[in-house]
Amino acid sequence: MIMSLNQTVLEIRNRQRIKSKPYDEPAAFWFGKDNLRGEVVDVMTIIFQTSGCYWGKQGGCTMCGYVYDSSTGEPSDDDIIMQLDKALEQVERRKLEKFMVKIFTSGSFLHEREISPDLRKRILKKLADDDRIVAVLAETRPEFVTDEAAKECLSVMNGKPLEYAYGLETTNDRIRRESINKGFTFEKFKNAAEIAKRNGIFTKAYLMLKPPFLSEKEAMEDILKSIDDVAPYAETVSINLCNVQNGTFVEKLWENKEFRPPWLWSIVKILKEAKIKHPDLYLMSDPVGAGAKRGPRNCKICSRDVADMIREFSITQDVKTLENVDCDCKLLWEKELLLDDFTFGAPILD
Ligand code: SF4
Ligand SMILES: [Zn+2]
Repeated sequence: MIMSLNQTVLEIRNRQRIKSKPYDEPAAFWFGKDNLRGEVVDVMTIIFQTSGCYWGKQGGCTMCGYVYDSSTGEPSDDDIIMQLDKALEQVERRKLEKFMVKIFTSGSFLHEREISPDLRKRILKKLADDDRIVAVLAETRPEFVTDEAAKECLSVMNGKPLEYAYGLETTNDRIRRESINKGFTFEKFKNAAEIAKRNGIFTKAYLMLKPPFLSEKEAMEDILKSIDDVAPYAETVSINLCNVQNGTFVEKLWENKEFRPPWLWSIVKILKEAKIKHPDLYLMSDPVGAGAKRGPRNCKICSRDVADMIREFSITQDVKTLENVDCDCKLLWEKELLLDDFTFGAPILD
């Protein structure tokens, strides 16, 4: 029997045990720094514990382990406000005077089944009324972006900048469908970005370097092409490096030695070339898990330093920072770019 990619992902999901957590605890939150359209700012990122991503619950994306951050039940609106308050308490302790807030739900902030329209407004109003907060970003799938939702969000923002972020992953519909199983098209993303733009909401696109079945070289070409395609629609592009998360289809491939996360040299090259070509586009990447066996990596000696260099570029946007570290393993990476098409995975592009 031949199973669809979605059925295969769903089977893997159904074997996972999900730990339950008190409903008034966020799934996670942390602090960092980011380049907010030209200004370096402190950032609080919060992942709300909601009922979760509808797409992920029915199978969903091949690399996504975030679905396991979702709640085992249905936190109430008040529970979710408590989650936000708990994260904001930590801001007090850190004495941050100025910061932006990134909202993730391991799904879609604009999906009514995860965050009701009323709760959406309560959250945004709370953030807009807080003088320390300079901007808000919320992640959503594009199918939930409408003029009506945009206007509702903005009605409580008091003119504070709002940005929608989307896990677009690639502008190539075939790769998004056959390698990621994302369940929406580039057209859908463009439509959402246009709605956002005409309402005065910024757009950030997340791309994914090296989803399954692509060789290192194909993956790099895909991202460079995707940046070109997405530049007219987004102010900021952030490139995630595919890592191996628990309970995912990518993990199965990786266990079978059919997947290797991308090299850090690949993203260094992409950032350099793309920034020179698109100097006004904010380009970034946070190499999560860099150097670990499940993460993007070079050799043991340089992975950590190269990851720091990528983070520094993401904040400064200065391509010169990408020359700061070099290592002998670059030669190996260059060899792999030549050989990978013959030895690795099953390329889906001609
Ligand atoms: S990557 Fe996003 S859309 Fe895909 S399953 Fe995970 S949370 Fe849902
Ligand atoms: Zn090295």
